[in-house]
Amino acid sequence: MNNKPIRHQAAGHDGTYTDEAELLVFKPTNDTEVKFYEDMQSRNAQQPRKEVGLQTWMPLFIGTLLEGLPADMQGNPLTSVPILDGKGPEKLAQGVKTGSGRPIVVLENLLHGYSRPIIIDIKLGRVLHDDLTDNEKRERLIAVSESTTSGSLGFRICGMKVQHKKQICDLEERYYEKDDQDYFTVNKHYGRDLTDLTVMGGLKLFFSSEDLSCERQVKLISIFRSRLTLLLDTLLKEEVRLISSSLFFVYEADSKRWDELKDEDTLLRSTMDAEEISDLSDDEDEAESMHPPTPLSSLSLIDFAHSRLAPNEGKDDNVIFGLERLIEQFDELLKGSNDIN
Ligand code: ADP
Ligand code: MN
Repeated sequence: MNNKPIRHQAAGHDGTYTDEAELLVFKPTNDTEVKFYEDMQSRNAQQPRKEVGLQTWMPLFIGTLLEGLPADMQGNPLTSVPILDGKGPEKLAQGVKTGSGRPIVVLENLLHGYSRPIIIDIKLGRVLHDDLTDNEKRERLIAVSESTTSGSLGFRICGMKVQHKKQICDLEERYYEKDDQDYFTVNKHYGRDLTDLTVMGGLKLFFSSEDLSCERQVKLISIFRSRLTLLLDTLLKEEVRLISSSLFFVYEADSKRWDELKDEDTLLRSTMDAEEISDLSDDEDEAESMHPPTPLSSLSLIDFAHSRLAPNEGKDDNVIFGLERLIEQFDELLKGSNDIN
């Protein structure tokens, strides 16, 4: 199979890969995450789409594969994902009873179309374990929450991938690694050591691209703040329990793309549907001219490996608390940048 590891990852486990054209990601996961995506998919099929419902913030879900597929099913990942020919993932599962491995969710690649993406993964919630977590892990997660901003603010920076060399070199060396493409991975220890008083510095660091003017940086902070408040509106209306899910921020650090788009960004990701993805893989040039260009930045919710839909259980106060605190940090950030200008 012509698949390769995804180029940029902000946090999480290794083992997520992408196809040749980098349109999709394949994430080995557990049954809980598969169920979350499938439940959302059937909910969306049954109900008319809610206006800015949870699905607006999630990567498009293409289907499920099983690790250890027979070779004849591992050609073009797009044709080996039967949902694209209307058969649905169940059909695939029937054909691959021999597959013994974990399930793999096939998702839209949120970095597709970015020339130099800068990314951050921010985990939401004070409580990081659920009923299924075993005792040993539960104690570990409680300790992590209590000793980090997870516990105090309900969010924690899990990791980021950035290119701003000058700022990064001010960090202690144990907090980052350099890769071979002029990127720096800021690791989980950085985010774990931030406190209520220093976490804003972490957010500032993320936005301090040396390739974007101050004006563009402020524009980014401001549009992400708008997205966060919109997402808060969404979560106030949704009945879910998101445990250990993350906010995933992406922005473009290639100023040429900013020039091309005349600094015009879009608030919400216009998610491609499965058909468009399929077209794109057939004839990338033609399809890309029909599809709106990749925006300059986007906000998504990812990682549902411990999450579930919770009909009739009311809103998810655990993540809402974190989102509210994060919005406060963005307010402060914006105040600070207005004072400078
Ligand atoms: P884990 O369960 O290992 O924490 P996540 O779903 O949180 O896995 O993903 C880990 C990392 O992989 C994220 O921080 C992000 O950088 C990358 N990633 C996950 N999903 C996508 C996606 N749909 N598109 C692009 N990158 C993704
Ligand atoms: Mn994660």
